[in-house]
Amino acid sequence: MIKFLDLQKINLQYQQEIETQLLEVFRSGWYLMGERLANFEKNLSNYIGAKHAIGVANGLDALRLILRAYIEMGVMNVGDEIIVPSNTYIASILAISDNGLVPVLVEPDINTYNIDIAKIEEKTTSKTKGILIVHLQGRIVFSNELKEIAQKHNLKIIEDNAQTIGAKWNGIRSGNLGDAAGFSFYPGKNLGALGDAGAVTTNDDELAKAIRTLANYGSSQKYVNIYKGLNSRLDEIQAAVLDVKLKYIDTENETRRLIAKRFISEITNPEIILPEYPESEEEHVWHVFVIRSKKRDILQKYLTENGIQTIIHYPIPPHKQEAYKEWNALSFPISEKIHDEVLSLPISPVMTLEEVSKVIDVLNNF
Ligand SMILES: *Cc1c(COP(=O)(O)O)cnc(C)c1O
Repeated sequence: MIKFLDLQKINLQYQQEIETQLLEVFRSGWYLMGERLANFEKNLSNYIGAKHAIGVANGLDALRLILRAYIEMGVMNVGDEIIVPSNTYIASILAISDNGLVPVLVEPDINTYNIDIAKIEEKTTSKTKGILIVHLQGRIVFSNELKEIAQKHNLKIIEDNAQTIGAKWNGIRSGNLGDAAGFSFYPGKNLGALGDAGAVTTNDDELAKAIRTLANYGSSQKYVNIYKGLNSRLDEIQAAVLDVKLKYIDTENETRRLIAKRFISEITNPEIILPEYPESEEEHVWHVFVIRSKKRDILQKYLTENGIQTIIHYPIPPHKQEAYKEWNALSFPISEKIHDEVLSLPISPVMTLEEVSKVIDVLNNF
């Protein structure tokens, strides 16, 4: 069986280094807010190129905290609107509604699966305060046009960078393109911890301070609380593991690109719609490799029978979820088509050449 993602194999690549770190944290007696978090934050901010990196408990918290901090700073108010792609993972949208802000869904481009920048301006109103762009599947969505729309309407650009660590747009890494970015280090992400973890990056000093304070019970000075905060921390064990793996992320992303290239050039079955390889290779880190087919469900069954595990990202669009009943009657035809037709193939830095060849052969014989 070719696994969709072999996390054990991914982490065993660094077994010795990781085990040494885990043992050191265990023996140190210091498990939260220590040296390892500080080191990882420093290395992450250097890598991304942003002035601040703040470790938090997970990716959803990273996004929630950015928006909450903007509310505390008076930049946004409860009831304001935030633009977000209609086909994103639910967490992007939850971060908005959790803060009493209103998510405004914008359809994606069918070729990139990312928000259609040309459709953003028609959805902006006097209440719009931000655009939550999601670099979905590992592909950056950004343009000068997007920057101009944000400037013209005085909107914050917030990046959901959960799927795209390491990608670059015109030499700038995702996570340093907008006003602030949320990262997830969920085990299955390109940079994955051994549990939950996340981070925020930003160049905004005031925002960084507000997020640090909010994530620490609303307190920057012990027992003095300036916000009704929460507890959202990246622990020393996860920080130590992430610091080891961060050194290898570029190499791992490069392997993903090579696999994606092979899939795109060697899968020739007309039943299968392949993703676009962007003109600038750096813009994609292939978190997932998503194909489309009108016969998606039959194809998935066929692949399983042939020993290839696949996943659907995602089977139900956010506006059809029970959690967002108020949207169930709305129509987002491009998102609906995507959700009906997509299938994610195995792709990872530990896939062997033989496994890649097998996936290609099996698909070509469908
Ligand atoms: C994984 C993910 C998140 C949430 O991250 P968690 O660490 O699981 O909370 C948010 N947005 C996107 C696009 C994701 O893929």
